[in-house]
Amino acid sequence: MNTTPPPITWRGMARQSYERGRTQPIRCVVIHSTAGSAPSDANWLHNGGNPFNPVSCHYYIDKAGVITQFVRDADTAWHAGQSSWTIDGVRRSGLNAWSVGIELSNRNNLTDPYPQPQIDATIALSRYLVATYEIPREQLVRHLDISPGRKTDPAGFPWEVFVNAVYTELPAPTRYTADAPIVGLPLGTFNDASAWLIKRSTLYKPFSIDEIVSGYRGIGERVGVDWFLAIAQMAHETGSLTSWWCDRPRRNPAGLGVTGHSITAQIPPGPHWAWRDGRWWEGISFRQWNPDAIEAHLGRLLAYALTDDQANDEQKRLITYALSLRPLPPSFRGIAPTMVGLNGRWAVPGTSYAQSIAGLANRMRGL
Ligand SMILES: [Zn+2]
Repeated sequence: MNTTPPPITWRGMARQSYERGRTQPIRCVVIHSTAGSAPSDANWLHNGGNPFNPVSCHYYIDKAGVITQFVRDADTAWHAGQSSWTIDGVRRSGLNAWSVGIELSNRNNLTDPYPQPQIDATIALSRYLVATYEIPREQLVRHLDISPGRKTDPAGFPWEVFVNAVYTELPAPTRYTADAPIVGLPLGTFNDASAWLIKRSTLYKPFSIDEIVSGYRGIGERVGVDWFLAIAQMAHETGSLTSWWCDRPRRNPAGLGVTGHSITAQIPPGPHWAWRDGRWWEGISFRQWNPDAIEAHLGRLLAYALTDDQANDEQKRLITYALSLRPLPPSFRGIAPTMVGLNGRWAVPGTSYAQSIAGLANRMRGL
């Protein structure tokens, strides 16, 4: 289940109307409504109620769905009062000790609406809390459930729909397939790519890897290439930045112009040869990753993905640069709108080339 917290603004308390620490583990989430309206209900909570009736809660959600936190989860807020509930099979009373309290700004009169942004934020926060503290469905409760006869809040809150939404698994994330478009939006993140390469590269330090990844992201976003997929191709071609061709001073990101041909000679036959073990080996070296090597890589991908008619000016510039380093047969232009078009063309015979890159991209995302 999702454990990413929604945006939360820390406000704290004007005075200590709560207990530091906890005597019991967090085993319940209690939903309230303030029986007031913003901002005075929020200020009331921030001030801890009044000295004769001190109150507090951990979170407050206004009608726009903005979440404010007054008390840390690790401290005990005073929101439940006299209350009891069955917790992990045992009847307990004094639920403050066992719970996190969420106050929704609402007059609690059955006519004041809970707008959708407020409901959505309550779902998001509750999902985060029940995932973090492994709270079972029966222990996500309303104040009226644990203090029956004494409390009616949150009156009118769409409870069944809410609980179902909190405990619904997230839809499975979209996976890369061989049909992933080359010109498209990335499905992975900077951190996914960076962490994958940092863990595996024997040649580049984390600082350099972050520069390479941010180069792919920056240039990819500019020309509309799915830069995460391009990084997966780079990782596939370079053994996740371990190969001789991707090492400095060659910095070749994807076997660009690498043919496997070698010759013995004093002087290389052209600009795109590199010296190793007493021979010249054919392949392109780049002075820097960003932008040279990355633009050559993304430009070549664009040349496969788009004809000149389909490309905008910035895309054309990269294509021209990439093809100046190594030409591409005109019949290959625009032949690969999706990755599978590279099969047998970027890689020969390469009947599973795009499938391998898509699989690697998914593994980089932890899927
Ligand atoms: Zn309440």
